[in-house]
Amino acid sequence: MTTDLDFLDLDRLLSEEERLIRDTTRGFVTDKVLPEIAGWFERGHFPRELAKELGGLGLLGMHLEGYGCAGTNAVSYGLAALELEAGDSGFRSFASVQGSLAMFPIWKYGSEQQKQRWLPRMAAGEVIGCFGLTEPDFGSNPAGMRTSARGDGGDWVLNGTKMWITNGGIADLAVVWARAEEGVLGFLVPADTPGFSTRDIDRKLSLRASVTSELVLDDCRLPGDAVLPGVRGMRGPLSCLNEARYGIVWGAMGAARACVASALDYATSRVQFDRPIGGFQLTQQKLADMLVELSKGTLLALHLGRLKDDGRLTPEQVSLGKLNNVREALEIARSARTILGANGVTLEYPVIRHANNLESVLTYEGTSEVHTLILGQALTGLDAFN
Ligand SMILES: Cc1cc2nc3c(=O)[nH]c(=O)nc-3n(C[C@H](O)[C@H](O)[C@H](O)COP(=O)(O)OP(=O)(O)OC[C@H]3O[C@@H](n4cnc5c(N)ncnc54)[C@H](O)[C@@H]3O)c2cc1C
Repeated sequence: MTTDLDFLDLDRLLSEEERLIRDTTRGFVTDKVLPEIAGWFERGHFPRELAKELGGLGLLGMHLEGYGCAGTNAVSYGLAALELEAGDSGFRSFASVQGSLAMFPIWKYGSEQQKQRWLPRMAAGEVIGCFGLTEPDFGSNPAGMRTSARGDGGDWVLNGTKMWITNGGIADLAVVWARAEEGVLGFLVPADTPGFSTRDIDRKLSLRASVTSELVLDDCRLPGDAVLPGVRGMRGPLSCLNEARYGIVWGAMGAARACVASALDYATSRVQFDRPIGGFQLTQQKLADMLVELSKGTLLALHLGRLKDDGRLTPEQVSLGKLNNVREALEIARSARTILGANGVTLEYPVIRHANNLESVLTYEGTSEVHTLILGQALTGLDAFN
């Protein structure tokens, strides 16, 4: 079995360019992330300086066209997400938020001037973005948001609190969704705007190599042209989430692959009762089940990627992918952890780190329950949210 665990030979279904992007991202993760990640996770640190390297490799906003973005297809973006998350979900989260949640709304709904001002520097990793939708009292139901935007002369004045915001404390620019008289609008808030402040959320036991923060908007005054002119209503933030969720469908399989690889390696070298534990049928059952789910999930991600590149991918199909692949990745991580025995609970091996990270991935970008309800509604035509 090769180290990339490509049992179904999915490599054959990729183009030369897609393989190159995958291999480049994998090289970055091998050289820059894996040697340090256990320490970063332990210290709760995200190495901000690597943003420019990610930008230099063309991995930030890579599926967007123009404005310094690489303009790759959706499958290449997915492959990069998979390889980044094989390193750590924190790195995939960083790239997802930068590309799909901060750059995408500017690219899709921004004015020409906003695009020129922000996108090239964000693609280069010189400007870091975040996406403020969730609030302390509104998570799964963001439409209830209380953050308000009031017109005042030609300006906007924002008030409210956003919670659980990835990259918040290191961001130069926050994309903030707020309720105005005209409906929910998106605002570009530079971090040095008076009235804007952040507070990092400490004591997280998941996604530790990723900054998660609270954003406070206290009479935060913005010029009239800070609003994204091209969208109104919840369609704006939800369309961004759909882009990022697509990346998670792939990314989760990266975390899963790292866990299977670690468990396989351990199972063939750890000896108990005078034989490698991989020789016991119970261990083989775990490994075989992991391989089946890893292969199915990766194939599903590739299929959804091809649909996206054809312009045919629906939000409900993304929900199916996110629900399945994160759920199965978490199962794989937990099962791999058992194979590693006591070593499985230490940072000497990647498995418990991935398992802990995946707990956040299960919750953000729509919880598994929310995606289940989306599929339930698609099947029955009945809304079970309220
Ligand atoms: C590490 C991390 C990073 C994040 N990054 C960002 C970010 O960058 N930007 C951002 O805006 N947000 C971010 N989030 C927030 C994330 O999107 C929310 O946590 C998520 O939407 C869930 O909201 P909640 O935590 O308030 O849970 P709640 O909505 O309070 O849900 C709690 C539980 O109730 C269930 N539930 C809720 N409603 C229903 C229902 N109708 N039927 C059945 N069950 C239901 C949920 O599925 C869940 O199990 C992040 C979260 C984490 C943990």
